[in-house]
Amino acid sequence: MSFVDGFLELHEIDQLLLQATDEPHAERWASLGLKVESAAALVRDRDKLAATLDRRWLGLYERSLGRYGRGLSLVRQRVCLGCRLTLPTSAAPPPGVTALHLCVGCGRLLIWE
Ligand SMILES: [Zn+2]
Repeated sequence: MSFVDGFLELHEIDQLLLQATDEPHAERWASLGLKVESAAALVRDRDKLAATLDRRWLGLYERSLGRYGRGLSLVRQRVCLGCRLTLPTSAAPPPGVTALHLCVGCGRLLIWE
């Protein structure tokens, strides 16, 4: 699993956790006969994954998660979709390189499309 993939997976778990702890959402899925993984199981998965991630980046991710409810943001055509800031050309990773960056506007971890 790559560095960036680890944070993408963490983001997915955090979004699932928000849903799992949201009663109306959980009831809707249950009424459709679908089983939602319990929050406790998700927290276990999250802890296991978080232990494998870089601590400094994890700290930055957690900070944005606490502030905005999302720890990372997509970048499309140099625009951070989290805060709509146009990022400098120099901020883009070279083609073919996946690397994490922070948005200078909102502080989220940026995932370049
Ligand atoms: Zn931003």
